[in-house]
Order: sequence, then C-alpha cells, then structure tokens
Amino acid sequence: MKIAILGGGISGVALARMLAADAHRVVVLEAGDRPGGLCKSRRYGEFTFDEAGGHILFSKDQKVLDWQLARCGGEAGTVRTVRNTKIRWHDRWVPYPFENGVGHLTKDAIVDCLAGYVESFADRRAGAPCPANFGDWIQWRMGSGFARHFMVPYNEKIWKCDLRQMASDWVAGRVPEAPIEDIVRSAVGLDTEGYTHQSVFWFPREGGFETMVRGAVRDGGFTLHCNTPAQRVERRGSGYAVNGEAFDLVVNTVPLPQIEPAIAEIPDPIRADIRALRPISLINLMIGVKVDEPLPPLSWIYLPFPEQGPTNRVTYFSNYSPQNAPTGHGSFLAEVTHRGELQPDAGWLRDVVKALDRAGILRADQVVLTEWCNNKFAYIDQDLSFRERIGRVRKWFDSSGYLTFGRFGRYEYHNSDQCIARAMQVHAHIQRTAASGRPEPLQLP
Ligand SMILES: Cc1cc2nc3c(=O)[nH]c(=O)nc-3n(C[C@H](O)[C@H](O)[C@H](O)COP(=O)(O)OP(=O)(O)OC[C@H]3O[C@@H](n4cnc5c(N)ncnc54)[C@H](O)[C@@H]3O)c2cc1C
Repeated sequence: MKIAILGGGISGVALARMLAADAHRVVVLEAGDRPGGLCKSRRYGEFTFDEAGGHILFSKDQKVLDWQLARCGGEAGTVRTVRNTKIRWHDRWVPYPFENGVGHLTKDAIVDCLAGYVESFADRRAGAPCPANFGDWIQWRMGSGFARHFMVPYNEKIWKCDLRQMASDWVAGRVPEAPIEDIVRSAVGLDTEGYTHQSVFWFPREGGFETMVRGAVRDGGFTLHCNTPAQRVERRGSGYAVNGEAFDLVVNTVPLPQIEPAIAEIPDPIRADIRALRPISLINLMIGVKVDEPLPPLSWIYLPFPEQGPTNRVTYFSNYSPQNAPTGHGSFLAEVTHRGELQPDAGWLRDVVKALDRAGILRADQVVLTEWCNNKFAYIDQDLSFRERIGRVRKWFDSSGYLTFGRFGRYEYHNSDQCIARAMQVHAHIQRTAASGRPEPLQLP
C-alpha cells in the first residue's frame, strides 16, 4: 500500500518505520523544518537543550523501552540515571511524590497532612463517592492537609484554572497515589519510594531527546517531506488524496485542531467538538550556568508556590548527560505553562531567573545563557466536558477510514513511550486489515 502519515513527531515516524519494514510505501508529511515535534532538541554553542521541557526515556512496557533504547544506540548511546526528584517546599527539599516525603515537612504540616488524610480515608471507607472534578478529588483522595500544602498550589500553577473545572477521570496512573502504610511510615521518618516505574530512566548521551527521533528516521525506509504541511486531505475513489497526491491510506498524528481545516469531510458537529479542544501551552526556558562545582545530583524538582515564580518544574538537564553542557557548566530547563497569553520578553526572563535564585535553585550571577521556546500544544485541557467531546471525535475518526493517534492526534495524555505503543497497535490494525482486504473500524485498548 501507499500510505500517507501526517505529522513527523515520534508517533508519525515510529509508525512510518514499522510500516516501511512491511514493504509499504510510506510518506511522512511534516510541517516543521525537521521531524520530532515535542521531542525536538536544539543546540546553543556547546549546550544542548530539549525544546518542550525535560524528557526522559522510560516505559513500563519492555518491548517499547527496547525500541526506544535501540533508536538511541542502546545502553552505549544512553546514560542511565536513578531518579532523584524533589519538591522545593519553602526552604526544604522534600522527596517526590509528596506523600512519600511527608516526614520531611515541618511537624505542624505533618500533622495537617496526616489528620486530613485519615479523615478523607474514613470518608472513603464510609462510601463517599469519587468526585467527578479534580479539585474535589484531591480533597477526597488526599485530604485537606496534602491539598493545601502541595496538591492545590502545584496543580493550580500547572493547569492555570480552578481545579473544580477539571475532570478527575484522567488522574489514574498520572498523579501518584500512595497507600496509607507508605504515608504513615513517611510521617514517622521512614522513607518510602513511590512511583517506582520511573525510578530508573535513560537519556541519549548526545543530541538530546531528539536523538530517538533521528534514530527512528535513519534507515527507516520511508520518505520524509519536511516544510510540507498537510493542507488538503480528501477521499478520492477507493483511496485518498493528500495535497493532491494519491494514497491508499491516511494516518493522522497532527494535533486535531491543526488538521481539522485540512480534512474536507469532517461533519460540522465533529468540527465544533475539535475546535473546542484547547491545549495548554508551555514556555520552556533553557538556562546555562557557569559553575565551580557540579550541580546537586537531582533529576528534576517541582515548585508549587507563587513566590518561586511562574516555573512549575525545573529539570537539572546537564545531569541527564555530561554532553548536555560544556565542561565547567551546568544547565536547567524551567517549565512555565500558559493558556496562550504569555509572550516572554527580557524582563520576564530575568524575573523567572531571579525567582529561581530566591528559591535556591541557581545563582543568577552564574547564568551565561537564557533562551526560550514556546510549545503551543503541550498539555491537554481536561475540562468537565472533555471526555464526551473527545469520545465523539474519536468515534467519528475510528469509523471513517482515516486513522488518528498521537498525543494531540487523539488527545491522549501520553508520553512518547505510550505514543510508540499506540503506533505498534495501529501498525497491527493495518496489518490485519491489509491481510483481510476488508476495512474495519480502528479499536484501540
Ligand atoms: C512538558 C512535557 C514533558 C514531557 N516529558 C516526557 C518524558 O519525560 N518522556 C516521554 O517519553 N514523553 C514526555 N512528554 C510527552 C512527549 O513529548 C509526547 O508524548 C510526544 O512527543 C508526542 O508525539 P506526537 O508525535 O504524538 O506529537 P507531536 O510531537 O506534537 O508531533 C506532531 C507533529 O505534527 C506536525 N504538524 C503540525 N501541523 C501539521 C500539518 N498541518 N501537516 C503536517 N505536520 C504537521 C508538528 O510540527 C509535529 O512535528 C512530555 C511532554 C511535555 C509537553
């Protein structure tokens, strides 16, 4: 078959590689000047940075992790790190997840967290139903102390909305939920480890996270057209046409709001649903520092409080690979989310750096480089009607003959490993339907 893949992020290039290995003729159309999407990296002098905040290689799925590592040159081409993440809680460094680090708080805050947790635990035991909105879910699941001392300020900072306007159904597996034993052990000073599937991670030794994408393109056996946005996608005979060229099958991985105008036959109500899918955007600050001694051995830290500036997370990026910064230097990524309104200028950048200095993360007088990158589609706005709206959109696509997947191609809150897992599932679907010769609706688990 001749197959068009729209979008050359990791979803698009991973699927293209798999299909090309089956001897299909595969063409990837990418709007940008190079593939990679959110996985792109860039260089400034001898510094390498990721464009969309700190990315790490990890997966619960060994097959996917093996695929990722193979694209980066295996163990030799990557650096393995034992995760060391903390929360900057006022003047303390509290191990992450917060519930597992509760023993590191002040005594008053430990009592607040424990008392609130026990109360919420009792309510749940007595049958209090799981709330549909995220704000109430935090109180229901974690209690008032955890809510006040971390969960609410941190989540308001990242999502930039009243948390009661957000749905709670996306939380499973995303927000660490420690068992009560862990919380009690932590509260009496016995450290526990939460979120263990991410306790070890890898990062490409050279070239930043984008190395994985370059590895997928290299010898991939498919054609990649950059600077080539898909502008007109339509049905033609028993196949399709993309920008006038004929294909047997079209697979989309472009963010749905960006591809919607190009696909001629989307019904109006589905168009309206797609237009209501709003992203949360991310300014990623790339900071280089000259240092006398190495940075502390941290992976990343969370900054929940307004006085720490607008940054919600800082990655100690030069700790991921020694190649990320020149000798005698270190580097950070500082992530600031927004809802489309933020336009950084020199004053804003200075203020962000000063706030990081005040928070004890870096010294402003050691900063030798500050650059930034805006990522329009970074997080999904999971508002209360998101689930229904996206359900209608996916249903239309899945039975239309067009296939769509990817972080924003399907609006799934997926990391790159889950995008690759999806590519494997879409690949299997295409193999199945090609063998049977009959089109079938796409069914993803
Ligand atoms: C802050 C942050 C941290 C993250 N951390 C991690 C992590 O630690 N580990 C991890 O594995 N994942 C992480 N992720 C997730 C990861 O970045 C994504 O899951 C993955 O990159 C999504 O890939 P994609 O191909 O689905 O989409 P994208 O990367 O968005 O690719 C879509 C592509 O479509 C192109 N495009 C747009 N319009 C058109 C058009 N009209 N025609 C053709 N092409 C078009 C775009 O240029 C882009 O290249 C993180 C994401 C964020 C935002």
